[in-house]
Parts: sequence; structure tokens; C-alpha cells
Amino acid sequence: MDLKTNHTHRLADAATITRTRSRLGTPSSLSCSPTGATTFLHGPSLAIPRKKTGILDDVRSNGCLDAMRSSSPTNKKISMDIGHGVAFFDVDAAYLTWQLEFPSALASFEQITNFAKGKKIVLFLDYDGTLSPIVDNPDHAFMSESMRATVKSMAKYFPTAIISGRCREKVHEFVGVTDLYYAGSHGMDIIGPPRQSDKHPTCIRSTYNKGNEVNLYQPAAEFLPMIDEVLSLLIECTKDIKGAKVENNKFCVSVHYRNVDEENWDMVAQIVYDILKDYPHLRLTHGRKVLEVRPVIDWDKGKAVTYLLESLGLNEDNDVLAIYIGDDQTDEDAFKVLSEFNKGFGILVSSAPKESNAIYSLCDPSEVMEFLKSLVVWKSISLV
Ligand SMILES: [Mg+2]
Repeated sequence: MDLKTNHTHRLADAATITRTRSRLGTPSSLSCSPTGATTFLHGPSLAIPRKKTGILDDVRSNGCLDAMRSSSPTNKKISMDIGHGVAFFDVDAAYLTWQLEFPSALASFEQITNFAKGKKIVLFLDYDGTLSPIVDNPDHAFMSESMRATVKSMAKYFPTAIISGRCREKVHEFVGVTDLYYAGSHGMDIIGPPRQSDKHPTCIRSTYNKGNEVNLYQPAAEFLPMIDEVLSLLIECTKDIKGAKVENNKFCVSVHYRNVDEENWDMVAQIVYDILKDYPHLRLTHGRKVLEVRPVIDWDKGKAVTYLLESLGLNEDNDVLAIYIGDDQTDEDAFKVLSEFNKGFGILVSSAPKESNAIYSLCDPSEVMEFLKSLVVWKSISLV
């Protein structure tokens, strides 16, 4: 795929964190140190292939606080009018320079649709920060009615999947559109189309909305008791930190520190780190002002995208064009898979320059909506 040549970025972000000792480097002084964790250390034989612990995005390092501080860039405003050139407001030179490398998907719309002609387009969409704005209270991350209508229109023309770090049920509730596929917990909880033959033996065929047959795939199901245990510990140990919020995302746990005084961020990180010391089958990654605890398995949003393309019967199809739009570090795995396997491209949603495996960029959810609407119009005209 030659949408953009010389695209040789390699991810270097929050994950530039090196894995050394904890910033504080001292034994835990927590009064609620975890107990009972050893149940799992030598417990069930977990059959799912695992990543090694100590991967780049571990936060058990001196760079932890730096990563926490840089995990949510300051917004820059940008206004764009495709038909009449480009107008910028309050955009710094660095962002404009960055856009030379990651062009706006709106400004590049004609190039994208020229390339898409005759191809089967599949849409993958992150939720927070992509379809909805990032807000202080994660329970209030509602998408607008106009965005909902746009996503609904998308689903009429293209297979569309939502892939989020949230638990699947919650993100489905937020989006509220039935004719979509949903993958929650960073792709570890997938409702997809039924599969004819399956190399994933744990798939469960089931019925869903309107009695439609679907496949449920949960590659980290064996980790649920462990995740629940850590969830309880995190809730207990962070309850006295003002602003800290622990969110149950089923196969992962999110510790939000957006509303915590910055001077207490190291305390949040230390608590999470100290708890995870006793759970080598779990790892820690960074989101936007959130620390995320996940099972150490060889599964991510990129694997979820491949799984869904297989489910749709499109993974071996050379005429497929998958477009993944997301703003998270975890979306990078999906961007990378699409580029490497020549199946499509990623669009990074960011209002500030950052390294990415994406090809294009959009500034914020309002530009995402504009892009999706344009795709719907383009497709509907092409069918006339
Ligand atoms: Mg997001």
C-alpha cells in the first residue's frame, strides 16, 4: 500500500519507559499490601500464550511519572475546511510540522477515497477520545447524538467495530448502536460475526441483539478471578487518594488519576506497582491519565482487528481496506498490524505531535465525525 511513502516511524512514547526499579525504589509502606495473590502465582495452568513481563510499556520504572505527565497532551485547536483550504487557530509550529508526517485525513480525503475505490472498507473505531471527548469523570464520557447518528450511518455502508479499553457492555451502552461489532477490554472481549471454522477453540457461538447469531471470544477468560482480586485491592488501597478512580473493565482494571493532585501521582503509581509485584501474570500500561492493569497475554487491539477481519472473511482478501481510528497508546498495535499486513491504515486522533504507527491524523472527535460523515456521503454517492 503506497498511501504514504517513507513511513518508517517506530513507536516511542510513554513506552520509552525503561524497566528498572520503581521510582521510589523502596519496599512498600502500604498498609493494605495484597494478600492471597500467591493463589495464582503457582495456580492454574494458563493455556494462553503470554508476553514476557518487562515489555516496554511497563511502568515499573524511573520514567513512570514522566509518562504519567505526558499521557494527555494539552489541546491545540485546529479548524479545517476541506473545500477552501486550511485555516489554523492556536496551533503551534510543531503541530504543523508534525502534520507533514501525519497528514490530516480530512485534507487527504480525496487521496484516501481514490485508494479505496473498489475495495471493501471496514471501520475500526476506538471510543474514548475518538468518538467521545475525554472528560474528568470516565462515567460521563458520553458521545453526542450527532456522533451516534454518524456511526449508525457508517454501519449501514461498512462493517464497523468499536474496540475499546472499556468493558464491552459499558462501551456498547455508551455507543447505543446495535448493528456494530464490539470488542471491550482492549480486544479481550469480542462480539463478532459467526465464524465457519475456528482456530480459536474458546469461541462461543451465541445470539445477540435481535437474535442475530454472533461469536463471543474472550482470550483472557482464565484471568478473571485474578483481575477481580486486583480490582478489590486497588479500590481499597486508593480509596483515600482524593480524585483517584478505579474502573472495572472486566479483563483489565483502569486506575484513573486525571483528578488526582499531581503531587500525589507518585503515590498512585507506587500503590499500583506494589500490588502488581505479587502478580507476575499481570502488567501495567499507560493510557491518557490512566494506568491500566492487564493480563500478560499475547493479545492486543491488533490481534483483535486480525480476529475480526478473519471473522468477516476478509483477512485473506486483497481488496480489503481497513481503517482504524484511535487516540490511545493501545491503538498503536492495531495501526501497526494494518500497515505490516498491508490491510489498511491507522488514523491517530491527537491534538499534539506524537510518534505513531498511524499514517494519517485527525485533531479531535469533531474531526473524526467530519471524516466519518464524508465517508458515508462518498459511499452513498458512489452507489447511485
Ligand atoms: Mg481512546
